[in-house]
Amino acid sequence: MKEWFKELYQNCFGNDIPMRIRFLHLCTLGGTLGALLATISPLISGVYSMPGIIVCLITVVFFFGLFVMTQTTGNYDAVIIIGVCGLNFIIYPLLYFTMGGIQGGMVLYFIMGIVFSLLLLNLKQSMVIFPLEILCYIAIFILGDKYPELFVNVLKLKHNYTLDTALDFAVVSLTTFCVIKILYNAYEKQQARAEALVHELEDLSITDPLTKVRNRRFLMQAVESEIKKTKRDSHAVAVIMFDIDKFKSVNDTYGHLIGDEVLKNFANIISTHCREYDIVARYGGEEFVILLPQTTESVAFNRAEEIRRAVEASELCSSQHVPITASGGVAIYNPVTMHSVEDFIGKADTYLYEAKETGRNQIIWQHNAKGLAK
Ligand code: GH3
Ligand code: MG
Ligand code: MG
Repeated sequence: MKEWFKELYQNCFGNDIPMRIRFLHLCTLGGTLGALLATISPLISGVYSMPGIIVCLITVVFFFGLFVMTQTTGNYDAVIIIGVCGLNFIIYPLLYFTMGGIQGGMVLYFIMGIVFSLLLLNLKQSMVIFPLEILCYIAIFILGDKYPELFVNVLKLKHNYTLDTALDFAVVSLTTFCVIKILYNAYEKQQARAEALVHELEDLSITDPLTKVRNRRFLMQAVESEIKKTKRDSHAVAVIMFDIDKFKSVNDTYGHLIGDEVLKNFANIISTHCREYDIVARYGGEEFVILLPQTTESVAFNRAEEIRRAVEASELCSSQHVPITASGGVAIYNPVTMHSVEDFIGKADTYLYEAKETGRNQIIWQHNAKGLAK
């Protein structure tokens, strides 16, 4: 039994059920329960009108029939149209004349009927049904006012209208509160999901998928904006370009998977030697560039040396000993000789080339460069 209820709940209100269909279930099940209470409670208190009880019973059958129809046919659109039209144009007018009209608290239920039809119908359908509902209710008010004899029986009963109105008000307010709360929660959840997805996408578009450091596109933009800043306040900006030595032979000897692991660990070592505001990026296959804002040339050279020594001393592969060294070039931004991001990074690349040509596993900068042309 518990399982059955659980399954029914999931089918009606589960997270994967669209919001409109959840409202349909809320409306049919809530309507059945509400109408059942409205049938039983006057019978218990002994103050009732027979036509009122009959219309309430019809309402129970109407709502429950709709619920059964959603479960058996799955034709939600048809159920919604039948439900909205049947409720607003047949059931409500009948209830109005058997439950005491305006004084019986029916106006509150009319408003609830309008809220539910707007939630269940699409925009086009609402544009047709909404004015018809308003016209129908106004017609009911006028009819009730002109022909009081249309009211059945109930006015002759000793009704406590204050209590009735208070109860109706409580029921309708509670329902409206639940509906708005459910809608708002769903909206907030969706909003949070959309924001998380946007962040994830933004992150993916600037991250290298293998090493998780920034990609070349992000680096180029970051260097560009750093150059703009330094033109304003003349602080020093440095870049280091690293390239793993003889990496092709690592792949050839140990295989591409080991090569990938070496690349990841190499990027890790570089990252652990950088400050929070430095930018580490994979520039190409086994080439990495570090952008160091507010850093002088000698500080950048020392950092590059530290990284080179750390790479030489570390095991970059967990399963076997793969000796790895790297070479680097260090450049500082010079606004007189460098006119673009490419000029700036190109300078570091020139020094890296010299490091390769003159023995590898070393860092070249302008103070130890011999000026080899690339
Ligand atoms: P040098 O010391 O002159 O830099 O020699 P090298 O062998 O490192 O240079 P080369 O440019 O000839 O080779 C780079 C190699 O890097 C070739 C390519 O297969 C490898 N490579 C590039 N991207 C990846 C990658 O994502 N994974 C792996 N495993 N290898 C890569
Ligand atoms: Mg290489
Ligand atoms: Mg290379």
